[in-house]
Amino acid sequence: MINKILIANRGEIAVRILRACKDLGIQTVAVHSTADAEAMSVRLADESVCIGPPQPRESYLNIPSIISAACITGADAIHPGFGFLSENATFAHMVEEHGLVFIGPKADHIAMMGDKIMAKKTIARLGLPTVPGSEGAVTSIDKALHQMDEIEYPVLIKAAGGGGGRGMKVARSKADFAEAYETAKREAGISFGNDRVYLEKYLERPRHIEFQIIADKHGNAVHLGERDCSLQRRNQKVWEEAPSTVLTPEFRDEFGQKIAKSMAELGYVGVGTLEFLYENNQLFFIEMNTRIQVEHPITEMITGIDIIREQILVADGQKLSITQDDISFKGHAIECRINSENPKTFIPSAGTVSNYHCPGGPGIRVDSAIYDGCKIPPYYDSLIAKLIVHANDREQCLARLRRALRECVIEGVDTLIPLHIELADDANVINADFDIHFLEKLYNLY
Ligand code: ADP
Repeated sequence: MINKILIANRGEIAVRILRACKDLGIQTVAVHSTADAEAMSVRLADESVCIGPPQPRESYLNIPSIISAACITGADAIHPGFGFLSENATFAHMVEEHGLVFIGPKADHIAMMGDKIMAKKTIARLGLPTVPGSEGAVTSIDKALHQMDEIEYPVLIKAAGGGGGRGMKVARSKADFAEAYETAKREAGISFGNDRVYLEKYLERPRHIEFQIIADKHGNAVHLGERDCSLQRRNQKVWEEAPSTVLTPEFRDEFGQKIAKSMAELGYVGVGTLEFLYENNQLFFIEMNTRIQVEHPITEMITGIDIIREQILVADGQKLSITQDDISFKGHAIECRINSENPKTFIPSAGTVSNYHCPGGPGIRVDSAIYDGCKIPPYYDSLIAKLIVHANDREQCLARLRRALRECVIEGVDTLIPLHIELADDANVINADFDIHFLEKLYNLY
């Protein structure tokens, strides 16, 4: 039985996990770097432990410090949130070795899905469609060029260990291939310590559509529908919606159940997201995230399910409290990521929040850890708040979103609020007529 959870993260996700723990009557331990001593998660947790200096590798990525903090405080489980150590199989393994529960999947599944080549092979073996591409890693330009006869240009050279939208290079023709390949391989080695790369057909106008799943240790797995995360900059999401406007209820049901069945077959436990690209009425798998995702709240809004609560309960060995038949989808939800970034250049902005007013009213949820006078340190991800809006349909959801965005005040740092206001008023966005390149074209980010 889990009685005390150490939250190995910071910012809004640490507060979100803390809230789920409080609702379950579970004690909480916040860990923090010296830069985050005044953080909201530290203020709200039952206990807190400083785990090191500001640089992530010395604090939020410092495995011995985090496990020691759990042992000292008598925590019986660790929730990794997202980012940092959440998809680190060694960490998951070490947590379990210390007799603690890792709130996430088995280390083997984290490792399997963390290697994108192995992930694609596994998903293809389970009978789900994947983006056409090379059979495994490509080890030389000659071998790659040989495979290109089948894949056709443009092609994307992707890092097996990639993440965060990094480690991808497009080659539009045979003439660009060698340079793109060498650059991708070199950058992958430097960024991920793993220079294995693979090839994928570069889709010109796809949408990003992902399915949320959750599975328990008793062989039960359900899907919670999909999210459309096509509005991205530099391959990173800034606006997400659920449900997507392109899948029919029948397609969602059939495809979702196929995914849930595959996850049960794999013996997967915990929450997970299977990401697909959608083009010509077809979904093609690109990768799986074996952790809670930033955009999980929109699924919570349309299903009424507290995903982090379920995640904790299944990690504790309990059976899923819901069956597929219990799950239905109500209305429409949109999440805007409010990053502390310049809304035109996306350059991160650090500083002190000097004036904060949080929007409210029907259908509005704000997941954040900021408060008046809080510091936004320069060392971490720039996500400072998520505005999540729910309504009976998409049109009403957009109307509520426009209202909420204009009510929201965050001064002292740049934020993406002006970008979201523009998007909520954009004719293409209103008509849901966009693909993954829409935002970059709008802002000339190429
Ligand atoms: P990461 O792990 O870095 O997030 P993903 O494989 O999930 O990498 O891809 C991130 C984004 O990159 C996708 O949402 C999509 O916008 C773009 N992308 C990935 N693969 C392709 C592809 N084959 N064709 C076109 N765009 C792609």
